[in-house]
Amino acid sequence: MTTLESVFNPHNFRQQAHELVDILADYLQNAQNETLKTTLTWVEPEDSLAYWQADFQKPLLDNPNDFFKDVIAKSTHLHHPNYMGHQVSTVAPLAALSGLLTGLLNNGMAVYEMGLVSNPLERIVTDWLAQQLGFKESGGGMLTSGGTLANLTALLAARAAKAPNDVWTEGSNERLAVMVSDEAHYCIDRAARIMGFGTAGIIKIPTNEKYQMQTDLLEKHYENAQKDGLTVIAVIGSVCSTSTGSYDDLEAIADFCEKHNLWFHADGAHGGAVAVSEKYRHLLRGVERADSVVVDFHKMMLIPALCTALLFKNPNHAFETFQQKAQYLWANQGSKDWFNSGKRTFECTKFMMSVKIYALMRTYGEAVFKEMIDTTYDLGKKMAEILRGRPHFELPVEPQSNVVCFRYISDKVLSQGLPVENINDLNAQIRRRLLEKGDFYIVQTTLQGDIYLRVTLMNPLTQPRHLEELLDEIERLGVELDV
Ligand SMILES: *Cc1c(COP(=O)(O)O)cnc(C)c1O
Repeated sequence: MTTLESVFNPHNFRQQAHELVDILADYLQNAQNETLKTTLTWVEPEDSLAYWQADFQKPLLDNPNDFFKDVIAKSTHLHHPNYMGHQVSTVAPLAALSGLLTGLLNNGMAVYEMGLVSNPLERIVTDWLAQQLGFKESGGGMLTSGGTLANLTALLAARAAKAPNDVWTEGSNERLAVMVSDEAHYCIDRAARIMGFGTAGIIKIPTNEKYQMQTDLLEKHYENAQKDGLTVIAVIGSVCSTSTGSYDDLEAIADFCEKHNLWFHADGAHGGAVAVSEKYRHLLRGVERADSVVVDFHKMMLIPALCTALLFKNPNHAFETFQQKAQYLWANQGSKDWFNSGKRTFECTKFMMSVKIYALMRTYGEAVFKEMIDTTYDLGKKMAEILRGRPHFELPVEPQSNVVCFRYISDKVLSQGLPVENINDLNAQIRRRLLEKGDFYIVQTTLQGDIYLRVTLMNPLTQPRHLEELLDEIERLGVELDV
């Protein structure tokens, strides 16, 4: 057999795949029942690099599953109930299986012929989500590679709709700007800079004690921007913000945008998914008035990264973002055909993302997303309740979502009123030790200059008992490190 003959040998594939699925099912079981002791095994970056460099020099593998087993063992285990870290989904196994399927089929999607199934499925799942958000018209939705790219795409659409001249064709001759809260995700700032707005073109509106945009300050900042010669084109609401999971008041932003004829964009990368939940939908009140909305399926909707929906209230806007000629791709350049995905997305070749979502919905129905939101957001409230009951912990803000920030306050600080630096250092050290021990995975954030511990309860199988155990562990470390 030549190398390529063995590469494409169906018999090899069958054997390897069967074995791999068994390995993954074991991983899942061991993570869920905590036979697997740690969420991660900490290794310094240079040591990890050295390990894999040495591995790379070894003789070829007889069985690639030996490598896969090693990857599993050395990765961060999102399916462990003590995983409470970054906002990426604890993937539904069925969505991962769909990934195997779409990985092998590899239909590129930019043109209909290369996405005979995935283009219609994309239309169906984005129409469904548009409906959940309360949009009356459908057909303007698309899936794209991540919230960062989706937010950039939305702002490009905003510019096409609201800038005084046609920047796409003529380049910019105005100083354009967007308004956003100072707690917005950094990708908004980056998108505005990519679009040439510069530092002055990102107007940061201060947040209140709940880390929500102070919408009553929009008017003043808008007037100042105009005095400075800036043309504001859009206001972006964060639903929710990254650090604290706070929801901006979308009704107030919608009113302001209507009054000044501005584009209203809602960045719901993390928290837009609550549209499917009767219990938590109220957090998005006003979202149906947004011109564009971003929702990451790879955060709160159990799909592997990257998989993001960008939805437009007016479907025509979706086609006005990228007005480029690509004769070899599309015979009919100008037509608004939903089935040629590349006309509306930044990507040319694109994953068959829709298949993963569709498979989940056809098998489990909408209930899968509703339960996911209700379970994890309820758990956020539970965490706050547990924290309030423990004198060594402080909650800077009541959580609105499954993101919970808190910090450990030592006896010394409690009794002697030591300066806040001591708690900052102590909390940073606690977080570092948790990382090195690996039993729990949580992150940290800075709020108004102070360090807080932060959990995002992404794993729906996490129970209140795991939260108690985390706090017990932090208290132990707190006593040990507070010397
Ligand atoms: C995660 C997040 C982003 C970035 O999305 P990616 O999919 O990571 O690119 C943007 N905005 C908010 C509010 C987020 O939570």
